Amino acid sequence: GAARLLVVGGGFGGASAARFARTSYPELQVTLVEPQARFVTCPYGNLLLGGFRQIGDITHSYDGLQAAGIRLVQDWAAGIDAAARTVRLRGGGALAYDKLILSPGIALRWGALPGYDEAAAEVFPHAWMGGDGSQIELLRRQLEAMPDGGVVGISIPANPYRCPPGPYERISMVAAYLKRHKPKSKVLALDAKDAFSKQGLFQDGWKALYGGMVEWVPASQDGAVARVDPGEKVFETEFGTRHTLAVGNVIPPQSAARIVTASGLAAKTGWAEVDPLTFASRAAPDIHIVGDANNGAPMPKSAFVANNTAKQAVACAAAALRGQSPPEGVYFNTCYSHVGEAYGISIVGIFRPGPAGFVEVPDSGGVSPRGVLPEQRRLEAAYADAWYASITRDMFG
Ligand code: FAD
Repeated sequence: GAARLLVVGGGFGGASAARFARTSYPELQVTLVEPQARFVTCPYGNLLLGGFRQIGDITHSYDGLQAAGIRLVQDWAAGIDAAARTVRLRGGGALAYDKLILSPGIALRWGALPGYDEAAAEVFPHAWMGGDGSQIELLRRQLEAMPDGGVVGISIPANPYRCPPGPYERISMVAAYLKRHKPKSKVLALDAKDAFSKQGLFQDGWKALYGGMVEWVPASQDGAVARVDPGEKVFETEFGTRHTLAVGNVIPPQSAARIVTASGLAAKTGWAEVDPLTFASRAAPDIHIVGDANNGAPMPKSAFVANNTAKQAVACAAAALRGQSPPEGVYFNTCYSHVGEAYGISIVGIFRPGPAGFVEVPDSGGVSPRGVLPEQRRLEAAYADAWYASITRDMFG
């Protein structure tokens, strides 16, 4: 019969893989395993906090994928038998594959930041996984309910984590909300790092748009949060400073999703090591691991990278099934961030497979220019909107 391509995870990597396989390799029978009925994107979730999007704007259905001929199995992958090439489902039964594309995203490392467990996330939302959208909506409601004059704390982890500029876009969008509705309030961003993506551009934008409302504290100046206390609503730093907050957002340390770590497909780092040409797991050659779950450094853990590396993985899986050699690899990233509703900035990178991992092509990318450039910022915010529309169309049809 037809060769079976099984995709686990219907997010940026998985939905992209499934649709690309369906449209480009008609000989493949494509099955997608995803537990959720709808996908809520992390990208543009921060705009919801700013009041510039509603939850419906970032929620997508799988109807288009099913209409395209992809078999959708609404369940969790509970285990993988790489030798037998089967995936066991939580709801019972198993699915056999010839090639498996795994893109289940991240897991939050509960307890890695003392005090931060699943119960604490109901007080201090992470809003760092789309899930059913409840976390981002909880954070939004907390902002709406807080008094003017309160402090919104944001705890930011060390590298690597999902979406390097994401926390700083979040700072911006929270500040945008506060400036309009609670102008005596402030954002206190406590960081486990001393430097971050597009730092100069973000800091210029904060100064221009929000004045003194944003305070970002690097690790070396007592920014690293060492413990959180949801009962007292306190973030406590490495040096023992206790910050009492009106609202707290904890972006916790992360690893590859549980199905990856539990199946023995992750290295000690918590992320999966893959062949940089084919994305085949170093531990199991018929399993291609794409998206945030792999160690793609120096590529960022971004939706943009998940989308185009998923296509490379599918092309390599299809080539192997046809007895052909894999195509050449070249990977792209553009991460747009909104500093204000009409104030966008971006970073671009182009990457190639190298002998020992991924390599950024010298002089290939860069960041937006600094300076007072209102027209450039306005255009980049519009490009970001166009990017979101096109990538979600590419994934879901
Ligand atoms: P996901 O998109 O999270 O998809 C994983 C899917 O797998 C989920 O649907 C999940 O339900 C499913 N799954 C998990 N476990 C199982 C299992 N056992 N069985 C079956 N299914 C399973 N990136 C950008 O490029 N641009 C941006 O502007 C941007 N903004 C961001 C803003 C925020 C606030 C955040 C948090 C992230 C942002 N990102 C952005 C990053 C982007 O969200 C991730 O890089 C991207 O989602 C990674 O895709 P993925 O396929 O690895 O994981």
